[in-house]
Amino acid sequence: MTKTKKTQLSNTFIAKIQKNLEEEKKHLEAELDKFTKKNSHIDDDYEATYPEYGDKSDENAQEITQYLTNKPLEMQLEKTLRDVDKALKRIKDGVYGICKYCDQPIEEKRLEARPTSSACVSCKKTLTQEI
Ligand SMILES: [Zn+2]
Repeated sequence: MTKTKKTQLSNTFIAKIQKNLEEEKKHLEAELDKFTKKNSHIDDDYEATYPEYGDKSDENAQEITQYLTNKPLEMQLEKTLRDVDKALKRIKDGVYGICKYCDQPIEEKRLEARPTSSACVSCKKTLTQEI
C-alpha cells in the first residue's frame, strides 16, 4: 500500500491522543488480566478463565453463569484492545487521522471523542448507517 496522504494533525494533538491510547491499553490489559489468561501464541488474544467455586451443583451453576458473563466481556475488551493497538500503529506509521476508505482527514473532534476511529463520519455512515 502506498501512502499518498500524511496526517495533517499537529504533533501536540497526536501526542495527546497517543498518551490516551496507551493509558487505555494499560487499563484494558489490567481488566482482562482479572479474569482471562493471555494466549501466549497469539498477541492480544485472551481466553476467559473458567471460575472454580466448588463441586456442588449450585456452585457449578454459578461457575457457568460467571463464565457466560465473562465471555462477552472478554470479547468486547479484546476488540477494543485491538482497535487501540491499530490506532497506535497508525500513529507510528504517520497515517493516524486519515480515513482508511477515502484518504481524507478525519475531523479532530471525532478523533478526540473516539481516538480509535479509522474512518471519517461520512464513510462510517455509508458503511454502518450510523455514526
Ligand atoms: Zn472517509
